[in-house]
Amino acid sequence: MIQYCAVHVIFEPRSPCTHALFTLPTYQQMARETLEELDWCLDQLETIQTHRSVSEMASNKFKRMLNRELSHLSEMSRSGNQVSEYISTTFLDKQNEVEIPSPTIREREKPMCHISGVKKLTHSSSLSNSALPRFGVKTEHEDALARELNDLNKWGLNIFRVAEFSNNRPLSCIMYAIFQERDLLKTFRIPVDTFVTYVMTLEDHYHANVAYHNSLHAADVTQSTHVLLSTPALDAVFTDLEILAALFAAAIHDVDHPGVSNQFLINTNSELALMYNDESVLENHHLAVGFKLLHEDNCDIFQNLTKRQRQSLRKLVIDMVLATDMSKHMSLLADLKTMVETKKVTSSGVLMLDHYTDRIQVLRNMVHCADLSNPTKPLAVYRQWTERIMQEFFRQGDKERERGMEISPMCDKHTASVEKSQVGFIDYIVHPLWETWGDLVHPDAQEILDTLEDNRDWYQSTIPQSPSPPPVDDDKDLNVCIDKFQFQLTLEESLQREQEDEDGKPTPNHVAQDCSHGEDECKKDEEEDIMAEEENEDIIEEEDEVAMEEENLEEELKSQLGGGPDKDRLSDTSPVEEEEDSSSQADDT
Ligand SMILES: [Zn+2]
Repeated sequence: MIQYCAVHVIFEPRSPCTHALFTLPTYQQMARETLEELDWCLDQLETIQTHRSVSEMASNKFKRMLNRELSHLSEMSRSGNQVSEYISTTFLDKQNEVEIPSPTIREREKPMCHISGVKKLTHSSSLSNSALPRFGVKTEHEDALARELNDLNKWGLNIFRVAEFSNNRPLSCIMYAIFQERDLLKTFRIPVDTFVTYVMTLEDHYHANVAYHNSLHAADVTQSTHVLLSTPALDAVFTDLEILAALFAAAIHDVDHPGVSNQFLINTNSELALMYNDESVLENHHLAVGFKLLHEDNCDIFQNLTKRQRQSLRKLVIDMVLATDMSKHMSLLADLKTMVETKKVTSSGVLMLDHYTDRIQVLRNMVHCADLSNPTKPLAVYRQWTERIMQEFFRQGDKERERGMEISPMCDKHTASVEKSQVGFIDYIVHPLWETWGDLVHPDAQEILDTLEDNRDWYQSTIPQSPSPPPVDDDKDLNVCIDKFQFQLTLEESLQREQEDEDGKPTPNHVAQDCSHGEDECKKDEEEDIMAEEENEDIIEEEDEVAMEEENLEEELKSQLGGGPDKDRLSDTSPVEEEEDSSSQADDT
């Protein structure tokens, strides 16, 4: 039966409706590709090896399919090439050419004698029970915070406002609220002062000066996981310990993130890469720090668990956090698809996951989905995340430029195409994943998928399409007002020169455009932009063969990767999540 499923996954048919649009060279291309497919199948049959699991074969198949689509994409334009590079280096487990690193300064070398990043803190996190504020954090905006937390169990909760009203302690606050809501402090006899001390210490080990991978992101992933855990199709499926593990994993999953990628750490010979032998460097580090912090004063929130519970929890958490390494994406997706093919539900529509291996597989995909959930959130929230991730990428790009290294895909503020990268991220990564999740918990995720598709269309509509956008030669600084806590993005070269792609079409970097005015104005502009773009769309598309080609590809990829019945959407990738990696040391070097 498993074999059957794998074969089914592998030979998912193409959507026939796209064929009418193909020209003769396209048919030749398809014929060549079909032959390659057959070769591959023969190869698989000839070399069927018992040590290669079905999931590995399915994963390889997906990688091949995505690779092919990406090579089309990269041939189309320079910006397409960049998006394609970004996706393949981040999600396909492909190593960049290893760069000869500039000589690194080995700072305060005490290798392997301790887990770097664990700081002794002297904040006032020790609280007595009696002094405990209503939401676990001191704030003068308790009522406003209470209003935001009314959405605790909803997908649309605005974590940015939670941060604003919680004295910038979104992670502590959301953890406290979720653990109260789920009664986990009682279930696991976690002393409340220990809990608050731990979560505040954890929050302090996220870097406030990293634009994306800070405690807001951790809070967001934790709350998203909390909502996914409550999806009706998973009702009563997980044990309390598994729920505790999933929430804890989400909370620690990026702790002490330095704002640069695994590949950057590897290429710069960072101490972390050395420590973890280049394998899931950051994810290993996040785990080490998250667990190590339990040893701090009054921080052991698991003190009243049995030894066995602690062992199982640790195993679960390690599994889930390691699965947030984006280079594992394809194998996670392949496994999830196989699970969907074989899924069994009870008469009330709840999934039957009798074995541990099935439950942990769903959990690791759940946290991965939460980690890739930005494009599924309300547009205003999603856009703030996009601004943040691009700022973090550009900072890494600046570091690479300073060191004379090759600049990573999407990290060059002079050439990155933000909108295209979001559309590509959704089409190739996020949508295929969420669509499969949606199949697993059908019909629970329909609203999430609808939002994702609307957001994808919005970013698509904002891709600069005009053939001659006003040239901007001067780089100028723009203040970007993204959100309410003075998160200011300063881009040296915000409206940068249009980049002519191979067809002579400009692909300007658009990153700062949205942010050059206040939030409300942004919204108005958005609406106007959307209307204007919609008016232009037809004409532009007729003129634009490349756009057509891209759409065909999108449809084709979607039918192959996603296999879903809905609108044509390639697959999404959101750059947002992909690069979780890096360790604090890299910042110093
Ligand atoms: Zn993350």
